[in-house]
Amino acid sequence: GASIELEHLSKSYPGNPSPAVDDVSMEIRPGETVVLVGPSGCGKSTTLKMINRLIEPTSGRIRIDDEDVTRIDPVRLRRKVGYAIQSSGLFPHMTVAENIALVPKMVGWSKARVRGRVEEMLDLVGLDPGEFHGRYPRQLSGGQQQRVGVARALAADPPVLLMDEPFGAVDPVTRDHLQDELLRLQHELHKTIVFVTHDFDEAIKLGDRIAVLRERSRVAQFDTPEAILTNP
Ligand code: ADP
Ligand code: ADP
Repeated sequence: GASIELEHLSKSYPGNPSPAVDDVSMEIRPGETVVLVGPSGCGKSTTLKMINRLIEPTSGRIRIDDEDVTRIDPVRLRRKVGYAIQSSGLFPHMTVAENIALVPKMVGWSKARVRGRVEEMLDLVGLDPGEFHGRYPRQLSGGQQQRVGVARALAADPPVLLMDEPFGAVDPVTRDHLQDELLRLQHELHKTIVFVTHDFDEAIKLGDRIAVLRERSRVAQFDTPEAILTNP
C-alpha cells in the first residue's frame, strides 16, 4: 500500500458557479480502505478522479507516498493507481483477456508474464480463465463484467486502488458476493483503497475508515465505522 494525501483540494468546473469540491484535506494511510460516502452529486467521483489525474484540481495538491502526482509520469501513475468504475469501463471491442492485459502491456511486461497475469487475475475474481478469457464484455453478465473491471484494475499490481461505485450496477445478491470478495482481497493484497459509494451500509461494511461527505465534498466526519455508528 501507499499513503495518499489530499491537501486543500478544490475543483470548479467551467460554467458551474459553485465548486464541485471545496477545500478538502485528508490523509489516507498505507493499506487502509477509506470509503467516501455521500449523496449523489456531492463531488465523490470528482475527488477520486483527481487522485489519478483524470481531472486536474483547480487548486490544492495530491501526494502519493509523499510524491506530488503532477510529477509522476502518466505510465508510472497507471502502474501505481488502479481504477474500477460502476459501468465496469471495459472496452467492448476487446476480449476479457485483452482488457485485463491493457496496463501490464502499457508498462512493458513481457507477453508470457502478461498471459500468466491475466489467468491469475481471472482466478482471483472467481472467473474460470479457460471459459472467460476469450469472451467479449457483451457476453458476460453484469456481475461478471464488474469482476473483470476489478481484475483489470488490479492487473499491474498497483499499490493504490480507486473504486467508484464498482458494485452499483449489479443485483443485491451479486453485490453482496462481490463485497465479500473485496473484503477478502483487502486482507490478501494490502492495497490502499479509496472506495466511493452513496450506500451507507456498503461504507460501513467495507471501510476501515469512512469519510462522510456533504455538498462540495466537505468532510462532515472521518472515522472508523464503529465510531460513526456510535456517534452519528
Ligand atoms: P458524485 O460522484 O458525488 O455523484 P460528481 O463528482 O460526479 O459527484 O459531481 C459533483 C458536482 O460536479 C455535481 O454538481 C456535478 O453536476 C458537477 N459535475 C461533474 N462533472 C462535471 C463536468 N464535467 N462539468 C460540469 N459539472 C460537472
Ligand atoms: P447474473 O446473475 O450475474 O446477472 P446472467 O443471468 O446475466 O448472470 O447470466 C448467467 C450466465 O449466462 C452467466 O454465466 C453468463 O456468463 C452467461 N451469459 C449471459 N449473457 C450471455 C451472452 N450474451 N453470451 C454468452 N453467455 C452469456
